Amino acid sequence: MPPQSRTKTWVLVVLVLLLVVVGGVSYLGWRQSVPGVTSLAAPPRTIGQKTVVKLALEARRGNIARTEVRLVQAGRAVVALRQEGAFGRRVEVPVTLESAALGLREGGAALEVWARDDFWRPLRFDERPIASHPITVDLTPPRIDVLAATRYVSPGGAGLVAFRVTGAARATVSAGTREFPSFAYGAPDAGTRVALLALPWDVPPGTPLGITAQDEAGNIAARGIPAELKPRRFPTDTIEVKDSFLRLKVPELLPQRPPSQPLLEGFLVVNRDLRRQAEAEKLRTGRTTAEKPLWHGAFAQPRNTKVFANFAETRTYLYAGREVDRQVHYGYDLASTKQSPVPAANAGVVAFAAPLTIYGNAVIVDHGWGLQTLYAHLSRIDVKVGETVEQGQELGRTGTTGLAVGDHLHFEVLVHGVSVTPLEWWDAKWIRDRIAKPLREAGLPAISGAEGTDEPEPAPPAPGARRRAR
Ligand SMILES: [Zn+2]
Repeated sequence: MPPQSRTKTWVLVVLVLLLVVVGGVSYLGWRQSVPGVTSLAAPPRTIGQKTVVKLALEARRGNIARTEVRLVQAGRAVVALRQEGAFGRRVEVPVTLESAALGLREGGAALEVWARDDFWRPLRFDERPIASHPITVDLTPPRIDVLAATRYVSPGGAGLVAFRVTGAARATVSAGTREFPSFAYGAPDAGTRVALLALPWDVPPGTPLGITAQDEAGNIAARGIPAELKPRRFPTDTIEVKDSFLRLKVPELLPQRPPSQPLLEGFLVVNRDLRRQAEAEKLRTGRTTAEKPLWHGAFAQPRNTKVFANFAETRTYLYAGREVDRQVHYGYDLASTKQSPVPAANAGVVAFAAPLTIYGNAVIVDHGWGLQTLYAHLSRIDVKVGETVEQGQELGRTGTTGLAVGDHLHFEVLVHGVSVTPLEWWDAKWIRDRIAKPLREAGLPAISGAEGTDEPEPAPPAPGARRRAR
């Protein structure tokens, strides 16, 4: 081999070796540079007696091989979660932190997330947490002090509870499984709140009434409301469904009905499904309410009207002598002359003004704190949603729209969308005894025109005793 080509071979060999070394080193360098597991979610800033923290972790390469959550307080670390195994590239792990079991005390702490992937790297450094979050451990539940409440409440009725909450910004009251909001009332920062309770007409005896408050850390406090649930009876009625009525009303209320569907079947769709839709709309509208009372004094019943159907009347519907349906009537039917003016029962803001299935053209006026009044079967609506109305202001005219036979006003009082008897709110004495009095006892401002007295609250009349509408 001539010396020239020998030199060439050596150069080639050196070049290839160099390439192998450079390639190998940069490959290892790349392996080393691949970032480890990253944490995608931050925990809540405050944890309570029992808090669920959702971890979201992602590995850039390989799979997540180990996950650990540690809580560090005063130099002491406790492991709240440890998981090992291949979990895939992305994992979401809920971690339940029970402060007592972990030995945590009130105050500052750090929540550390440790995680490792199974991606091979040439060098392993000392492990560090992939994320560390400062948190506050808050183990003190909010405090609820009941200040005053309506002493006697009844099915299909309302009540008021005034209370003070310390350490929570939100509190709800409940009647059985139904929950209602409460509203800050009185001096700011005093923590005093007021809630109206609605008892559905069919609330079972012994239904618990309570207050629940929850703080940011998830600590919960609960208190019972010292009110006595007194029974109340409601009337029943039988309604005969005539063909002439079906021919008139079913096409109006069910325009998309296939022509092959018998009228009675169409009527049952209206009386069941459309009625349910209207109930759902009432509950929805009940949630848009002013955070302060807009009403004053007793609610007004339209003058010179005749009551021909009562609140919570169970109606049995007969067709050709056979029972076809049973429904509950949630309002008062008030008849006067045709197309009579419909006055607002009290001051408020219009919360709903549109056709509402069986109710026909309907208006709902919001009086604040979840208290609302509903006016149905109107021939004409003269107000718009958002409009402020005074007591007695004309909302529209009576009519026969919806599931109505003769011209009349169907009137309801709603508390958080639940129908209650208007008899209570039409009665100035009832408002004084059951609403104004607990406000006064709690040292809260009175509602104008509804000031409380110190007289003891009278017990309600015995069940079954007739109370006539004025
Ligand atoms: Zn009615």
